[in-house]
Amino acid sequence: MPVVLPPGAGYLGKSRRRISASGLVTWERCPRQWHYRRRIGISDATVPEMIIGLVVEDALCGLYMERFLTTEAMPSIATWVNFSRQENGLALIKSEQSVMISDMASIRAWAESIIPTMVTEVQRILKERWDKNPWKANGRDIAEVEDIRIENLLRGGIQLQLEEVENCFNANGGPHLEAYRASGDPFTVPAPCWDEEPVKPGMSSSRTAATDFNQTGEITAWEAWEIARPWVKDPRIAAPQRLFHPEGWAAGEMDLVHRWDGSVRICDIKASAGTSGYSAGLANQLRFYQWLWSITRTHSGRPEGGESGGELSGLEGWYLMGPHRKIIDLMDEETLASESERWKNIHSQMTLSGLHPTHLAPADPAPWVNHAPGGKALPVEDEVAAKALTCKRCTAVAFCDDAPKAEQAKALAALTPLELGSPENLIQYMVPKPPCTMISQIPQRLNVKGEVKGHWGPLSNHYGEEVRGAAIAVGSTNVVIEEMGADSFGEIPQGTELALLDVAPGLWRRMTRLYLDEHSEIKPVDETGDVEFTRLGLIPTKANLSGQIVSRGGHSGVNVRGKPWSMSTCHLWDGESIVEVVAFGSAITRTFQKLQVGDFVRILAAELGWRDGVPQVRIDQRQTRLEIKEPK
Ligand code: SF4
Repeated sequence: MPVVLPPGAGYLGKSRRRISASGLVTWERCPRQWHYRRRIGISDATVPEMIIGLVVEDALCGLYMERFLTTEAMPSIATWVNFSRQENGLALIKSEQSVMISDMASIRAWAESIIPTMVTEVQRILKERWDKNPWKANGRDIAEVEDIRIENLLRGGIQLQLEEVENCFNANGGPHLEAYRASGDPFTVPAPCWDEEPVKPGMSSSRTAATDFNQTGEITAWEAWEIARPWVKDPRIAAPQRLFHPEGWAAGEMDLVHRWDGSVRICDIKASAGTSGYSAGLANQLRFYQWLWSITRTHSGRPEGGESGGELSGLEGWYLMGPHRKIIDLMDEETLASESERWKNIHSQMTLSGLHPTHLAPADPAPWVNHAPGGKALPVEDEVAAKALTCKRCTAVAFCDDAPKAEQAKALAALTPLELGSPENLIQYMVPKPPCTMISQIPQRLNVKGEVKGHWGPLSNHYGEEVRGAAIAVGSTNVVIEEMGADSFGEIPQGTELALLDVAPGLWRRMTRLYLDEHSEIKPVDETGDVEFTRLGLIPTKANLSGQIVSRGGHSGVNVRGKPWSMSTCHLWDGESIVEVVAFGSAITRTFQKLQVGDFVRILAAELGWRDGVPQVRIDQRQTRLEIKEPK
């Protein structure tokens, strides 16, 4: 729910630095798994389920934004279908069928009538996203997703929402009926509706009553649909629509917020029956939202006016396959306080994980818990075996020193090409040959000394974020010093003979840079004691690496100044460590695009960079050489 805009582009305000519900759930599954997935950024091969959930949820939220016609029959096509097609430059479609909305039965009939075109649109998007995805799971294909599966998921979401509408109708609209009739959606942040203007985060609502509300008398089914409409993320708004912790270090994006009965219920949509071990994360996810909800109610950035929706009264998981409604108990005040303390502590541990090789989040897998339909946890009989199941499904099982040996051996065997025969040969094959070095030998932190010159002022880094920078000089040698991310380092003193300790070397636009973050320090040289300094002219800025590609990804978007950007990524493993390799914009060469998981590569003269405290190797279009090798 868009309470406020994200708290600046501050260091903690960056998405990789915040704790989110999904990050927390991964951490609770295993902190080391979090490290691999979130800090290093390795991902799993895409399976259809990863996309189905997102698209079906978008389709349902779009459906809940519908407003019915009253003077004529309602065409049997959801507004979301044509919105989605339009977004993709496709012609709008019409339906020959229509349903006159007069009572609950007619709403149900209309909802049933729109399912076929919704299924077609969901399938179109699934195929499009699947085809664009650079890394798909072996043996899986989006073509295996049958229409009936999507149909059942959509029908589940329709049924659960129609239960809300029916309850609202039976409660004669609940306590907000008069407010809706007088002036429309009364809430400070109204529920998005296709027939109303979108309300951007932080903006005040200017809703007026839709003309089809009655003035007096019993509630109509049309009114019950309007009043029971939940808050959902508005697809017409590009800005994040999340609850942001006022200090910026936590954020959460809820699926549905129901408010029609005078209290607030936060619901999360799951495109499954809830039988897998991943269902264990639902309670924590929803309780994290409970906490964010409670601390953002009095936020000074909230828009003025409107009603609050009342007290939080419930947390629900909506499992669409069934469907099932899983009720999660709210935390009491005492538990809320202790949990928020615990989350803050987890966030501090997340911040430190991986900044130094000795600082890895602990390997501590939670047992894998199977569930009966509806997310009902089944007992765990053998805890050791259940923990091994969590490791078996872990993205990092091949690389983690604490993975059970049998599971690790299977994962390594899957990475070993036939030509190499065994995982031992694979590790041997990957030992780098000069000029390549092990990833662990990438120069991480070093100390320099000199005179800090220039105003510690704003400049734009390669992500378009505003960071502060100056220069350090010794004689005629100058090197730019800059913050690793916005607000990641405090003020710097000016002066001669200063020592910059624990700074990260790198290169950007072919100029040496030294990056400062919360682990760096500046003090007079004579106060540093026995420290080894690197000469400014000898700062290492390039990396020569070799190894196997073990993950692929990419993103694109628009930066804070409105400029489009794109990046393509892969993760390189050398048998010991993993590093992210990134190509930005025009550096995304055809060879880089072609890279596949399993390929063996040599990357020569790559630029050294940093992302959230861990090294990142960047492709320079003109100077970096990228070679794909055949195993032998
Ligand atoms: S393999 Fe097991 S211990 Fe290692 S990161 Fe994964 S879940 Fe944690």
